[in-house]
Amino acid sequence: MIGANLDKIRKELPKHVVLVAVSKTKPLEDIQEAFDAGQRIFGENKVQEMAAKWEVLPKEIEWHFIGHLQRNKVKYLAPFVSLIHGVESLRLLKEINKQALKSNRIIDVLLQFYIADEETKFGLSKEEANDLLSSEEFKLLENIQVRGVMGMATFTKDQEKIKGEFHKLKKIQNSLKANHFINNDLFNVVSMGMSGDYSTAIDEGSTMIRIGSSIFGARN
Ligand SMILES: *Cc1c(COP(=O)(O)O)cnc(C)c1O
Repeated sequence: MIGANLDKIRKELPKHVVLVAVSKTKPLEDIQEAFDAGQRIFGENKVQEMAAKWEVLPKEIEWHFIGHLQRNKVKYLAPFVSLIHGVESLRLLKEINKQALKSNRIIDVLLQFYIADEETKFGLSKEEANDLLSSEEFKLLENIQVRGVMGMATFTKDQEKIKGEFHKLKKIQNSLKANHFINNDLFNVVSMGMSGDYSTAIDEGSTMIRIGSSIFGARN
């Protein structure tokens, strides 16, 4: 079932869009099944759960952290995480940089933006991101690489509203690229789109979709 679900999604994906299989709450067997069907990138939103899965599953897996990351837990991910999607403060970036240095790594991160109109969602505004990226403190962080932006649309059936929010995120990425990463081709990721809205996200310029329930089935 998981393999068939993956095939179905892959068939619809343009070549430039990366699929992150969101395996949060799902057992090891489900992840192994997806791995056996060729999936290599998995997303988790709890630090301990991700670290425990990383320990026992194949080392070829690239682990993406997609949740709200607390500074005191960065150290558990730093040795192996391949992309942290939801960074929204300089304080957190500094901690990631510090732990990356200890692991002798450069860790890729995305800046998370607030594009929905739900109070439960996190993220920076464009102005806050401009301030962060212009700051002297940011420029000293040599063990992180900002790879792009991430956002979540409002939870609604209104596809026009979702479309507008994704459009806004893509515009933020263009503007940050022009202002801060003009000669840096690594700033090229737009992580947006989940099971319910990934087609719209791709139409609006997503380069990375995060799909859970359409691959693994509903979560409890
Ligand atoms: C759970 C989660 C997803 C996947 O959601 P589905 O609707 O199951 O595809 C994507 N992104 C984030 C940040 C999540 O927490």
